[in-house]
Amino acid sequence: MKPQLFGDVKIEKIIDMVEPFAAARAYPSEDLSLVEQHRSWLEPHFYDFKAQAIILSFHSYIIRTPYHTILIDTCIGNHKSFGGMLEKWGKREGPFLDNLAAVGVTPQEIDYVMCTHLHADHVGWNTQLKDGRWVPTFPRAKYVFSKNDLDASRERAKDAQTAYIAPSFQESVLPIIEAQQAEIIDTEFALDDALTVLPTHGHTPGHYCVQVDSGGRKGILTGDVLHSPIGIAHPEWTTTFCEDKAKANATRATLVDSLTDQDITLMPAHFDGPTAGRIVSQKGSERRRFQVAPEAL
Ligand SMILES: [Zn+2]
Repeated sequence: MKPQLFGDVKIEKIIDMVEPFAAARAYPSEDLSLVEQHRSWLEPHFYDFKAQAIILSFHSYIIRTPYHTILIDTCIGNHKSFGGMLEKWGKREGPFLDNLAAVGVTPQEIDYVMCTHLHADHVGWNTQLKDGRWVPTFPRAKYVFSKNDLDASRERAKDAQTAYIAPSFQESVLPIIEAQQAEIIDTEFALDDALTVLPTHGHTPGHYCVQVDSGGRKGILTGDVLHSPIGIAHPEWTTTFCEDKAKANATRATLVDSLTDQDITLMPAHFDGPTAGRIVSQKGSERRRFQVAPEAL
């Protein structure tokens, strides 16, 4: 994705990792033969038809406004403990901080870190391991966390059935609270003159999107309301990743409806390649599609 300019606000994508994920695992109860009809616009960036896999990018957005430098979502991180199906992510050493440096940003410059939600792939770089302790990666930043997600994470960490997610909470969220760098929100919130954080619950109990409105151009960072552009063609498809599946589907359907044929640039948390684009209706089909923004290529 090329840097996106919204007046004097600049948004860039910082990649942590890209990997395919079997579509049958992402959408276990849906008819995947329907994906074929979207091949022309899902290839080459969003779907691997040979492997029958969605292509998941794990990236952050760095937003520079005249007033603040803001990081949205912090991906997977290095040296973290992962269990179960996420074990392959554990102990990894990715070049995320080098990728951040490549766009001219040091960790000291970040004023705000905003996690759209508190899943392990959105909080990883909140902290890094230094001398055996997890410390905030961004020493000056206020970290904006959702109260609902925080409450849910604490509950899950207590329950043996769901405690497998606890390491991410303990390693990537609790150290921020202990360092008194957390700002807890439970409603709409203005992050900056140009940026509004909007409740879009369902994927998690306290998921938020981030709206950009500056210089006559509008955009939205949609977090995990959409994992793949398939969710634009089929907003009713249930993903394995969403916690309250009915609510997540309703939130997705409402968002897709409200963005269809609008001049609003989406920047989702997991779309690969040029990443930024718009939702457009298609002649002769009730199905909407994702159209990569020319200014992203
Ligand atoms: Zn995610």
